[in-house]
Amino acid sequence: MVSSIGGNVATNAGGPHCLKYGIITKHVLGLEIVTGTGEVVSVGGKAADRPGYDLTGTMVGNEGTFGLVTAITVRLLHLPEAVKTALASFASLVEASEAVSAIIAAGIIPAALEMLDDAMIGAINAAWARCIRTAPGRAAHRARRAARRGGGSGRESRGDLS
Ligand SMILES: Cc1cc2nc3c(=O)[nH]c(=O)nc-3n(C[C@H](O)[C@H](O)[C@H](O)COP(=O)(O)OP(=O)(O)OC[C@H]3O[C@@H](n4cnc5c(N)ncnc54)[C@H](O)[C@@H]3O)c2cc1C
Repeated sequence: MVSSIGGNVATNAGGPHCLKYGIITKHVLGLEIVTGTGEVVSVGGKAADRPGYDLTGTMVGNEGTFGLVTAITVRLLHLPEAVKTALASFASLVEASEAVSAIIAAGIIPAALEMLDDAMIGAINAAWARCIRTAPGRAAHRARRAARRGGGSGRESRGDLS
């Protein structure tokens, strides 16, 4: 499933990365818009926090009602020094939610956090012949312990931690 950057700007979308990076309005510096009468209007520019009214902020999230966005200038971000992906299973949604709270409380802001319940895991396993385990393993305990220590477990890898 793919969305367009015009659609993202028009809906001020966030997605799973918005906890760390914020919603799209934080990243848009300037826009070119063609209005319903065919007029081409530019708002913002290449610099952040320009003086005057934040017309770019007004345009982001207007769902196409002010015009068609034909050019978008976005802010550049540094790539992270390293990326780790971890997958952990929990006995209940409550336990999973507690792990999320512990991770955030430990000062770790993940680039994305996605929680899947049994029904969703079943759908993914069925659609892609994956074998994501739903039973709780040692991973849940390790994730909480790592969060309490304020760092990674040292055993993270792409895939299941347990
Ligand atoms: C399964 C699913 C999960 C989603 N999860 C999230 C989420 O976690 N967080 C979140 O914030 N959103 C979420 N969304 C919403 C999603 O972010 C937006 O629907 C999507 O980003 C819009 O992009 P699109 O290209 O699909 O736009 P479209 O659906 O094609 O258009 C959306 C709106 O933008 C207008 N538009 C499109 N392009 C332009 C343009 N160039 N200029 C002016 N107007 C334009 C359209 O007229 C329409 O009103 C989800 C949507 C789905 C279907």
